[in-house]
Amino acid sequence: MIKTISYLGLGTMGSGMASNLLKAGYNLTVWNRSPEKCEPFARKGARVADSPADAVRDVELVMYSFSNDDAVEEVVFGAKGILSGSKAGQIAIDMSTVMPATSLRELEAYAKRGVDFLDAPVFGSKSESAQAKLWIMAAGNKAIFEKVKPILERLGQTVHYSGKNGNAAAMKLVGNLIVALELEALSEGLILAQKAGLDLRTVMEVVNVADFRSPLLVSNGRNILKRDFSPSFALKLMLKDAALIEKFGEELQSPLPGLRVIKRNLASAVALGFGKENASAVIKALEKEAGVEVNGR
Ligand code: NAP
Repeated sequence: MIKTISYLGLGTMGSGMASNLLKAGYNLTVWNRSPEKCEPFARKGARVADSPADAVRDVELVMYSFSNDDAVEEVVFGAKGILSGSKAGQIAIDMSTVMPATSLRELEAYAKRGVDFLDAPVFGSKSESAQAKLWIMAAGNKAIFEKVKPILERLGQTVHYSGKNGNAAAMKLVGNLIVALELEALSEGLILAQKAGLDLRTVMEVVNVADFRSPLLVSNGRNILKRDFSPSFALKLMLKDAALIEKFGEELQSPLPGLRVIKRNLASAVALGFGKENASAVIKALEKEAGVEVNGR
């Protein structure tokens, strides 16, 4: 049974997962580029490492969640990176949203050092991460998956085995395509409703009960009406994912006309300065075009 774990990347998602590993009683080492994010974990008994290579020393399992492919490139493959400190027999799990090709590159590099690797990105956001309610997919060697499944179950409400390496990363892109299109639909719908003079609270009540309801539409809709754009999933990360999805679609010659529309709107919202707000702030780019502001107050 695995007892020693390193968690690297203590951002919105990683901090929730690392806290739950501590709560579950694992012997935890943490590392984050901005070291101040390690302090709350040190106070709760985690060892704070001074580099990724140092973080993975003497642990059985290494887990991480970084912003994007470039960050994974730097922290995994770079000088004093995870690979440089890893040893045969360890297991590494990448929980970031990255291209499936990046997961395969990680698999190959870890294999050369005798390290097993799973790609295991997640659905859910800040609160699901904090409350161990994530929806997790994991791909790679099945026996290794079975070994780490009890640990993933401490972080999420569901854990799905996705088959060969890269499949979980691909599933994450498929899911985020749907998320992006839902946000576009919500934004366009609310602006149209506002222009039509509808009562927006009633609109959201109907969205909450109709056959097209979804928790994502309801929570984002409610927050838009309150003009609450505090980040659970930053808009700039949604734009990053839209670019990954576009690239993945091109590789597979799969048409993505809707994705191109929301990608353009996400880029406009970032250019307007809303990149650090929640992804639902994409509505602000459309509001500018529409000359209205959606407000349920
Ligand atoms: P975040 O809050 O922005 O945190 C990103 C983490 O990556 C931070 O620890 C950051 O370190 C680190 N990082 C970024 N660039 C780095 C670099 N070059 N070198 C070292 N560390 C670097 O992002 P998040 O929301 O936790 O998302 C993490 C991953 O999960 C992303 O791939 C995202 O797409 C995915 N995801 C997010 C959500 C969500 O709702 N937020 C949901 C599902 C999946 P610093 O603290 O030093 O900046």
